[in-house]
Amino acid sequence: MIALDSPTLIITQAIIQWLLAILLMAERGTDQGTKFWVIALFIHGFANLLLFARPHLPPVVAIVFYNFCVSLAFSFSYLAFARLVDKTVSSWLFVLPILLMLISMSIYIDDIVMRVIFASVIVGIQLMLMSLILTRGCWSGSEKLKKWLIYATGLLGLGFFVRALFCYIKPELFIQIIAKSTIQGSLVIAGIIYMIFSTVIILLVRLYKLNKELSTLASLDGLTGLFNRRAFIDNAKDIMVSENLPLSVLMLDLDNFKKINDAYGHNVGDTALKFCAHALQDGVKQQGIIGRLGGEEFAIILPGTDSKQALAVAEKLRFAIETLDVHPDITLSMSIGVATSSTISSIEPLLVSADKALYDAKAKGRNRVTHADLLATELLLQRQIVD
Ligand code: GH3
Ligand code: MG
Ligand code: MG
Repeated sequence: MIALDSPTLIITQAIIQWLLAILLMAERGTDQGTKFWVIALFIHGFANLLLFARPHLPPVVAIVFYNFCVSLAFSFSYLAFARLVDKTVSSWLFVLPILLMLISMSIYIDDIVMRVIFASVIVGIQLMLMSLILTRGCWSGSEKLKKWLIYATGLLGLGFFVRALFCYIKPELFIQIIAKSTIQGSLVIAGIIYMIFSTVIILLVRLYKLNKELSTLASLDGLTGLFNRRAFIDNAKDIMVSENLPLSVLMLDLDNFKKINDAYGHNVGDTALKFCAHALQDGVKQQGIIGRLGGEEFAIILPGTDSKQALAVAEKLRFAIETLDVHPDITLSMSIGVATSSTISSIEPLLVSADKALYDAKAKGRNRVTHADLLATELLLQRQIVD
């Protein structure tokens, strides 16, 4: 048996709802889903206060307006859940329960039993809709939390259907809404627990989303949007698996870039870097992973690409950079070192080989592609001549 009476519980619920709303509002940069949830909490808290003050209010306010507020709060909760899983909802599903509530409460303004049945069924449906949308959308965060929220929402919805049923079977229990009543009290307690539980989950999902956004930002180069060195190496390690062999690596470096900066300024230099990044992305597409290792130096990993194919890609990229139209007086050029392996299990030696080939391309006059295999053959030939 619940010792607390309904008015105390309802006031407690209102206070908790407003406190939760204030807590969420205090967080900076809140997303749309959280904003809708805050609105829902405020309206809910307000509706609970109306319920408490019911005996002193005219019936239209105490009954019709109160239930309007309740359905409005649940419609906002529905919107909040939809945003939480990146779904849009039809405006009908938002408006219809509110309209039904207004109509049924106005018609049965003098019939408490019918009012409780209608109000409970409408709110039950709204909670079921909330539960349903969670199953449909794209959830960020742990699957366990998602399941808990779906079950909790569905269960509360079920609670309202049971309330409607009880009211139909035992109408005497509902003659006075704010009264000592186990079923009414249990529903209010369930509501309080549910509100706290959902708010915590909304906060956790928001934290998870922020965390994901931050780690994406931390892996990208701010100027070009390509992977930065660390993310590039991490990604490279991930694809170092046998089915990707042979695997080729390209090291690319813009030629005499310092001169461009000196002659046309850093801004033009930055624009040139962005153009280059775009041209590289265009040339490689989904075929490989591109990173900006630093300054005007880029690297590309081409899984499942042999020497011949890698040389063709490199030559295509070199040409694409040469024909870029960054500035009427600027012709960019790029030197590229290529290395390929069919057996390698670690990326570092390949990067070193490609870097050596790049160095050779620079030494031979820039704006060219050199393959590490070719370099090795040349060295061997030189040694044989010296011997
Ligand atoms: P090389 O052909 O031998 O590669 O000559 P280089 O001038 O391209 O090479 P160097 O290493 O001497 O100069 C690289 C220049 O790249 C120096 C720096 O001013 C410029 N740089 C590095 N990062 C950025 C950047 O983010 N924006 C701009 N605009 N310039 C950058
Ligand atoms: Mg350079
Ligand atoms: Mg450089």
